[in-house]
Amino acid sequence: MNTRLSRFVVFITMLTLVSACATNVAGRRQVMLVSESKAISASKQAYVNMLEPISKAGKLDNDAALLQRVNRITNRLIEQAKKMRPESAKWEWSVKVIDDPKTVNAWCMAGGKMAFYTGLIEKLHLTDDEIAQVMGHEIAHALANHTAERMSVAMASDLAVNLYNSTIGDATGTSSLAASAAEVAIKLPNSRQSESEADKIGIELAAKAGYNPNAAVTLWQKMASLGDSKLEFMSTHPSPKNREAALKRLIPKMMPYYQAAR
Ligand SMILES: [Zn+2]
Repeated sequence: MNTRLSRFVVFITMLTLVSACATNVAGRRQVMLVSESKAISASKQAYVNMLEPISKAGKLDNDAALLQRVNRITNRLIEQAKKMRPESAKWEWSVKVIDDPKTVNAWCMAGGKMAFYTGLIEKLHLTDDEIAQVMGHEIAHALANHTAERMSVAMASDLAVNLYNSTIGDATGTSSLAASAAEVAIKLPNSRQSESEADKIGIELAAKAGYNPNAAVTLWQKMASLGDSKLEFMSTHPSPKNREAALKRLIPKMMPYYQAAR
């Protein structure tokens, strides 16, 4: 074994030993190289970087009525998120409406930094119940620590490649972490397992906030009717197997929460 390769093997072994395990809100064990607090601070930076040019172009929060509508719905979801994961009460939650009628998308970074594109609401003619399902799903990704998890996976492969090339750079620096946080939240597809988790948690948050669980099914039907390949949202949220059937099965369990909240 040459020196570089043996260093690589040692590195991978150490990586395995030092990597922390955590159990997320869905009860699943996750291997974490990036802590949630690091993902949250990186996301805070990524949020600023991402929104600055949009704001300068005059495309942020232009429609006061729409912003108020989105805020009203997300505030009710955030209240439930805090009950489900009390430490999220410390998060600096924020939601922005991006004026982009062509883009069908929404996201929530680690730490509750959210954005909603006007195209999602306009093209799909979303009801309040359906908006709540989208944002419930997005918030669920943050609550279940999917950002830090995906950053960990990205970092593990980056570090391994960098070390093998003997050129470890700024892999843990602030700027590359912010770029990584933005990339996993906005560009890269979630795993189907993460999607199923977010569906389950999201419909529950929405029901407890007083939004109709049936809207989870109509939402994904509307998404599908526009054609998966054209939607930014569908490229980052690949459809888990039997999504519609799985959501339908959850509805009876969610109805009591919904009725109690109304
Ligand atoms: Zn998703």
